[in-house]
Amino acid sequence: MHEMLHIYQGYNESLESFNNSTANLEVEAGIAQYKYLSSLPEFAGSKWEERYSRGGYAQMLSLLSSGLTSDSKINNEITSDLRFKNAFNHTTKHPIKVDPNYKFNPNRTTTENLKNLSTLTKTCP
Ligand SMILES: [Zn+2]
Repeated sequence: MHEMLHIYQGYNESLESFNNSTANLEVEAGIAQYKYLSSLPEFAGSKWEERYSRGGYAQMLSLLSSGLTSDSKINNEITSDLRFKNAFNHTTKHPIKVDPNYKFNPNRTTTENLKNLSTLTKTCP
């Protein structure tokens, strides 16, 4: 699911924008992964729920996820550019680190950071 979102991102980005925003795209894919897992009926009380509530990168993803409303609008108070950047910073400190060559593009707005996920979830219940 996570990797499929990267394919979708690649389809919708120019090669230059993709290569200059790989960290931004990684966080978006992480949010997509969280949205999927948290929608499962077995999520409550699961190992995944515990993982996403322990703090650090995973919890940041769950927080950012709540910034994408059910009608796919982006709540900038929750999903601010700073929080998005902090999520990436958590990623770099996480035991499972992202590729050090990933580039965070600070010029992308929150809307741009979540544009793929926002488009894909427009028709979701
Ligand atoms: Zn990824």
